[in-house]
Amino acid sequence: MTSARIWVATGNPKKAEELLRILPGGVQVSTILDAPGGAHWSVVEDAPDFLGNARKKALSAARFLETQGLLDSGDLVLADDSGLCVEALGGRPGIHSARYAGDQASDQERIQKLLSELQGVPPQERGADFVCALVAVRQGVPVFETEERCQGRIAEHPSGSKGFGYDPVFFPLVGGEICPQSFADCSVETKDQLSHRGKALRRFAEEYRKLCS
Ligand code: IMP
Repeated sequence: MTSARIWVATGNPKKAEELLRILPGGVQVSTILDAPGGAHWSVVEDAPDFLGNARKKALSAARFLETQGLLDSGDLVLADDSGLCVEALGGRPGIHSARYAGDQASDQERIQKLLSELQGVPPQERGADFVCALVAVRQGVPVFETEERCQGRIAEHPSGSKGFGYDPVFFPLVGGEICPQSFADCSVETKDQLSHRGKALRRFAEEYRKLCS
């Protein structure tokens, strides 16, 4: 079982970009957006935690690909559920990060809502963690699960134009110190090195060879 394909179950092209960048080299990778009808695949994220939602996404995407006749028995379907947990907000928006300012809101509107909720909160109390749960499913069964974090602090103003989501207001911790650049200002290599998603994908890459042996 050496030529298994990895299907990445996300409809978010920016997230797919990050996932594709960090996945093990030399592996055949497709996203669900490459599958016919894949742009219409969706899943209700109603589990109580990140891992539950990632598992739900991976299982649902696997069923979808199966019904399209696209899934070989060795293929893996990989899904992540991620979000921002802000200490001063008791861990919110957490699993609701994507819909924090309403279903149709933009990244900018989500950031504005976050900054207004944190108005007047001093820098030392603006701690936050990005969280990424990653699940791989094969033949309808989860075969890999992990949850990783990246600690940081929420700025008072957005800066930088790279990345996506809350990147412009998230300043990661590096060696115990707050990085001078937001995730949206960092190079992609730096974000991948530090990020919750980068850490989770590197754990997956370590396990991948075992999963294929
Ligand atoms: P979901 O995992 O598709 O439910 O969406 C998670 C949401 O959390 C995204 O839409 C972003 O708003 C936010 N998020 C997750 N990871 C990141 C990241 O690496 N940078 C910025 N925002 C993120």
